[in-house]
This record gives sequence, structure tokens and C-alpha cells, in this order.
Amino acid sequence: MPDHENSMVRLRGVRVHNLREVDVDFPRDALVAVTGVSGSGKSSLAFGTVYAEAQARYLESVAPYARRLIDQAGAPEAREITGLPPAVAFQQARGAVQARSTVGTVTALSNSLRLLLSRAGTYPEGAERLDSDSFSPNTPAGACPACHGLGRIHEVSENSLVPDPGLSIREKAIAAWPGAWQGKNYRDILATLGYDVDRPWRELPQADREWILFTDEQPVVTVHPQREAGRIQRPYQGTYQSARRYVLHTLATTQSATLRNRALQHAEVLPCPACGGSKLRPEALAVTFAGADIAELAALPLSVLAAKLRPEQDDEVARVIVADLLARIEALTELGLGYLAMDRTTPTLSAGELQRLRLAATLRSTLFGVVYVLDEPSAGLHPDDTRALLRVLDRIREAGNSLVVVEHEPEVIRHADWLIDVGPGAGEHGGRVLHSGPLAGLADAAESVTRAHLLDPPAPVGRHRTPTGRIELRGVSLHNLVETDVDFPLGVFTAVTGVSGSGKTTLVTGVLAAAVRDHLGASRPDDEEEPEDLAARHVREITGLEAVKRLVEVDQRPIGRTPRSNLATYTGLFDGVRKLFAATDEARERKYSAGRFSFNVDGGRCETCQGEGAVAAKLLFLPNSYAPCPVCRGARYNPETLEIHYRGRSIADVLAMTVEEAREFFADVPAVARSLDTLRDVGLSYLTLGQPATELSGGEAQRIKLASELQRTRRGRTLFVLDEPTTGLHPADVEVLMRLLHALVDAGNTVVVIEHDMSVAAAADHVIDLGPGGGDEGGAVVAAGTPAEVARAETGRTAPYLREALG
Ligand code: ADP
Ligand code: ADP
Ligand code: ZN
Ligand code: ZN
Repeated sequence: MPDHENSMVRLRGVRVHNLREVDVDFPRDALVAVTGVSGSGKSSLAFGTVYAEAQARYLESVAPYARRLIDQAGAPEAREITGLPPAVAFQQARGAVQARSTVGTVTALSNSLRLLLSRAGTYPEGAERLDSDSFSPNTPAGACPACHGLGRIHEVSENSLVPDPGLSIREKAIAAWPGAWQGKNYRDILATLGYDVDRPWRELPQADREWILFTDEQPVVTVHPQREAGRIQRPYQGTYQSARRYVLHTLATTQSATLRNRALQHAEVLPCPACGGSKLRPEALAVTFAGADIAELAALPLSVLAAKLRPEQDDEVARVIVADLLARIEALTELGLGYLAMDRTTPTLSAGELQRLRLAATLRSTLFGVVYVLDEPSAGLHPDDTRALLRVLDRIREAGNSLVVVEHEPEVIRHADWLIDVGPGAGEHGGRVLHSGPLAGLADAAESVTRAHLLDPPAPVGRHRTPTGRIELRGVSLHNLVETDVDFPLGVFTAVTGVSGSGKTTLVTGVLAAAVRDHLGASRPDDEEEPEDLAARHVREITGLEAVKRLVEVDQRPIGRTPRSNLATYTGLFDGVRKLFAATDEARERKYSAGRFSFNVDGGRCETCQGEGAVAAKLLFLPNSYAPCPVCRGARYNPETLEIHYRGRSIADVLAMTVEEAREFFADVPAVARSLDTLRDVGLSYLTLGQPATELSGGEAQRIKLASELQRTRRGRTLFVLDEPTTGLHPADVEVLMRLLHALVDAGNTVVVIEHDMSVAAAADHVIDLGPGGGDEGGAVVAAGTPAEVARAETGRTAPYLREALG
């Protein structure tokens, strides 16, 4: 750092969220790590201040008139900020992803591949050259006309329409038909047309059955309805519709979920026969490169795709486009993502994978003098992959950029040029900068919780529990798992480890949890795409399921996608709070029921924002952002509702309390206090009750789910499945969470976690290490046993790190 003055970013008097008049300096063109326990103020500093200010400046420089809009969205509250690079790019693990996006669209690889096929593809004799758009299922020019670019179609069969062929039409053999009048109408039309509606279905002639079920004709006949319950009905003109037509038409047009679900019971989802599921029109699929069409190329793991493209060098246009594709793919394989295929949809990716995808995409841009603000880029990374990530971050910095990363992973923190430690505690107990400088100086920060964990990590405590039984899976085949055998011991704590893409999620969520779910007969309501017998189709043999009485899956999916859900509503503790308000004298006098204190129904809420407390502010260049509601100023309620006080506080005041404050306030209300206690136990005491779901990280969402499970009565024999529960947690918070999970095991339950944190694996009773690599190079059990046994294994990339953690 040559010219100290000019190469420093100076922040003065920062008051964003819980930050208390913070002054901090850090170098430009450096890798800066921001550390501290959950809720200490890391994000408030990194995203709320550095990112927000840099972006505001960037917007101002390109569009001076945007200032007003920026102010409206809230520029960071600070006395002075100098030295910040003028432009900014960032990656954020939080926030929704688009359902239709894929690895190819996020990285823009799809565009290059389409260009390649369009310009340099091999066309059939006499075929016209197609433009890039014709290779995209999302454009009218490219979409398969048969399935409209969906890749799937619904189809019906005699079996699906007539489940019981022993019945006659009058006895409702054609179960797919609508009930009530409409069904009788079709029956009477068939009778009028001369079909026998009283013979068992299977005795009707083949030709009749086909016509009744599948015809595209819609004959109109005069129906003389048969007498029913003594009522005489008038003749009318009825139009016939075959059962197939009815079902498919309903699926294509209905707005009613009930009708749709009913129709789905009689239809099968098949890959579109016209495009084979590729979503593209035939003309596009006829074009090939290196012997494969675009759908085939997009289905290859990126590392395999690169190998296929590399030799193709004869044509100048092809050479240029291929070189560009290869360079982009290399950036991805370098970050350990070579096992992904371009057609993989983003909702099936983990937050860590998605962030690294975006990071790799920016690597190829030629920007410099930019500050990148990253949220835990090591999330979801095996320690071995973290090394590769560090090389990539170094390259970004060497190109003349600044990096500010919120991190918990010691390896990343030690690698950083500069460390900003925020704390010491969460919320109002944090918000101060305890250390800003090279790592060594942290030793002098007496109050820092990070100091102890980073400079003198505690040795893991082994419990050495004995399993009470086991679930044995034989012949597991899903994604990259091929005929894999694996045992999960019961009554103990198991950590599943392995590099990214090795098959951990597939095994634990896709197979183990699915098998238990099927066995218990429970369905996963928010995941309609997953067929219920998923596990059964992917496992040859399972034993030991009967020892599990309940399944609790705690994943990182958001607890809600709008500001309407928050932790108070999700955990149910808000119901108790609303009852307390409704029971006050004032409320009883005015006849306000508990519903009055809900911001989700009309009555008590502010109607301007419909209880959201915020209105969408359309900002140029910015994705949807929210500004406080101009009428209630974020309170969510109308003035009359806010006049009701419980112990001197309005319902809006309660939503503004942190979990910790609320615990004191409701200490003598057991129903509410119990929920708050578990929220504190999972390390969320700093969150406010009304914090919208949209502002929660995946890790926070996961811990809220865990807390709401824990507050239910604890019976034993429950299987808890968690996906990297330490994401977003400081080592000090990890300790608290682990104590909680181990207590569950001591109470007779089984815990299975997917984990990269070696301190967690080292303290487990059992470790299953998958690998050895990602994608096709993974899917096998490399080692399984106690942490010490796995650490001794010769193979696998986990052993050396586990050895280190065991000390
Ligand atoms: P960290 O990143 O260290 O986990 P945060 O910066 O997210 O911590 O939070 C620090 C404090 O600021 C917490 O008390 C949190 O509840 C509060 N906070 C975070 N985001 C907001 C927000 N959008 N509005 C108000 N308070 C917030
Ligand atoms: P891990 O959890 O260890 O990172 P995953 O189980 O997510 O690994 O992935 C293992 C392999 O299965 C990878 O090759 C991945 O690309 C593939 N895979 C995972 N989920 C899906 C999916 N929904 N569709 C297709 N392939 C998948
Ligand atoms: Zn199609
Ligand atoms: Zn309002």
C-alpha cells in the first residue's frame, strides 16, 4: 500500500442500523474481511454502508437525476465517507432467484452457445441459417410449438381416465369427468348418441371406448334428460367433449386449483414428444456442433463440454466464439463448479453455488477500480474448494479491485489483507469496530469474540455415543450416486461431508429424507414437483425406517417471499401476542378481536400499504426495492389500532422489539416466552419480531425453522436433517447451535447434517465422506466411521482437514 492517504477508504460517524457512530478506515485494492457474531453489524457495515454508498455514487455519476430516488430508498446514514471506488458490483446470497433461470442464463454462457450454433453450427443440407434467438426456448422463434417451450406435456391414457373398468358409465367409470351436472350431461349425450351407459366399461367395444375417451369431435345433440328424483327436465342442446379434451383443456385454462389438481390426477406428465423435453423447435435441434445439438451440449457437465469444444478449431468464427466460451467455463471450473451443466435450473442450486456462479461471471468482465461486496463466499464450500476461491479473489484484487467480504471461515479471514471485527455482541450489544487492521493486531482486541476462536480455537469435544439402530440404504441411484450403499446410524449425530457436487444433498435430502417422508406418509407441501415415491424409485432396498417416528427437515429456503411473513408470524408467537392485545380493557371496550391486530387482513391494518409497512419503490437500474409507507411510516397499522396499548406498548412497538427485548417484556407469558427462548437458543436474539422474511438470510431462515420445531414438545425418535446449519454463523454462534443439536441427540433423536465446518464434523459421532470429486467423479462413500477413522482414511479430500480439526 504505497500512498496511504489516497489508498484508504474512510468512513466517519456511521449510524446504519445498530452501528454506533462508527469510524473505520480500510485499504482500497485489498481483500477486507468483516467478522463478528450474528447480528453484530457486519452486513450493516458491508452492505448497508459500503455497498449502498458506492452504488448511490455510481447511480449519481450515470444519472444525476437519480439522487432523489436514492434518498427515498435511503442513502446510508453517515457523517462522511471518502475514498470509496466510484463504481460497484456485488454478489448477494440473499434475495430471490428467477424460477426460469439456469446455470447458462445466469452466467450468460447460453448466449455464447446459441451464437456458436447460429454462426458456426452444422446445418442440414439446404437448411436456412438461424439467428441466435431461434436457439432459445424463451423466444417465440425458438420455442417448441407443441409444448410452448415448456418441455413437458400432459397426456392421458385409458388407465388414467378410467381407473376401474368394472364400472359402467352411469356408475362413473370415467372418473376424470367433472362431477355434478356436467358429468351427467356427458353421460346423457352418450346415451342419446346410442352408447350403452349401463354396461361395464371393459365390455364396451374397443372402438366405442376410444371414441368416448379420445375423440376431438364435439358433436351437438338434443338431450332429453332422464327423469331424476321425480323432476321433469326440459330438453336442451348439449355439446360433447371427450374425457381427454376435458382434462387437457382444464389443465391449459383453469384458474381453479381444485379443478386443476383433480385433472392432474387423471393425467401424466411426459417429456414433450416433439422436442424430447429440450423445449426447442425441430429446426434448431437439427443444427449441431461437434456432433451434438444445443440441448445435448447444454446437458453436459461444464468440464465435459469444455473438452468437447476444445478441438474444434478449423473455422475462424468458431474459433473466436469457442475461445470465449472456454475462458468463461474455466472461470467456473476453477471455482469447483465444473460438475454443473448449463441446463441446470437455479432453484436446484445452493446459495453458495449460485453466488460462485455469479462471481465467476464477473471474473470475465474487464472492470477494474470496482468494489465487490460479498456475503460469505465460502458458504457451501469444502475446505479444499476454499483454496480455489481464495485464488479467484486474489485475481480480482490484483486486477485493481477492492473486495469486502463478510466471512466466518478462518481460512478466508487469515488470507485477507485486512480485518474489520465488529461487535462484541449482537444488536445493541454490538455495533462497534473492535479491530481494523491486519490480522495480527486482533490479539489486542480484548473484547473480541472472534479473537479467541481465530487465534486459539477450542479443541472439539467427542461424545462417542453408541447407535441405537441404523437405516440401511442399498443400491442408491440418483443424480451422480450409482448403486451406492450407505448406512445412517440412529440415535447419534452424523455429519455428511464432501466437496461441492459430491452428492451430499442428493443423498441426504433427495434420498434419506424422502424415504423417511414416504415411510411416514407425509408429503412436502411446498414442493409439488417432487413425486412422492421418489425415494422408492431410487433405492433398491431400505431397512430400519420403522425406528423413526417423525422427520424434521430444516433447510435454507426462505420462510416467505413477501414482507408479510416474519419470524413472529412464522413461529406462531404472534398469535399469542395478538390475544394479549385483544384481552386489554381498551380493546374489549371497542370490541377489537385478535384479528384486528393482524396486518394480513383488513380491519386493523394500514390500508395504504395493506399492512406491509412498505411500498414498492421503482428505482432505475435497481431491482424492486421497498420504501417505508408514507401513511403509517412502517407501522403497518391504522391509528385506531395503534391506540391500544399492552403494558404501554402498541402492537407496532412489539413488532419492533428484538427477540431479546421481547423476552424480557413477555417474561411472564409462558406461551410467548417459550418461543422467544428457543429463538434465542438458536442465536437469533438480535432479530426484531417484525423483520420481514425478505430481509432474512438463508441461514437465519433455517434457524427460525429449527426454533419453531424445537418449541414443539420434544418426543424422541425424531430424525432431524439439516443442510449446512452453520452457514452465516460465527464460530461462537456455531458452538451454541451445536450444543442444541447435541442435546436433541441426548434426548433420543437422530441428527444428520451436511457440513463443511470441520469443527462440527470432528465433534460428530459418525462421519460419512462422499466423493472423491464432484459430479461424475463423486457419488461414492469415500470413508465412513468415527471422525478419527475418517481422518485416518488414505483417500478423500476431507481426511487432512478433519485430522487438523481433531488436533
Ligand atoms: P450481521 O451481518 O453481523 O449478522 P446485521 O448488520 O445484519 O448483522 O444486523 C445488525 C443489527 O441491525 C441487528 O440488530 C439487526 O436486527 C439490525 N438490522 C439489520 N437489518 C436491518 C434493517 N433492514 N432494519 C433495521 N434493523 C436492521
Ligand atoms: P453436494 O450437495 O455434495 O454439493 P449435490 O447432491 O447437490 O452435491 O449434487 C451431486 C450431483 O448431482 C452433481 O453432479 C449435481 O450437478 C447433480 N444434481 C444435484 N441436484 C440435481 C438436480 N436437481 N438435477 C440434476 N442434477 C442434479
Ligand atoms: Zn416440445
Ligand atoms: Zn402503511
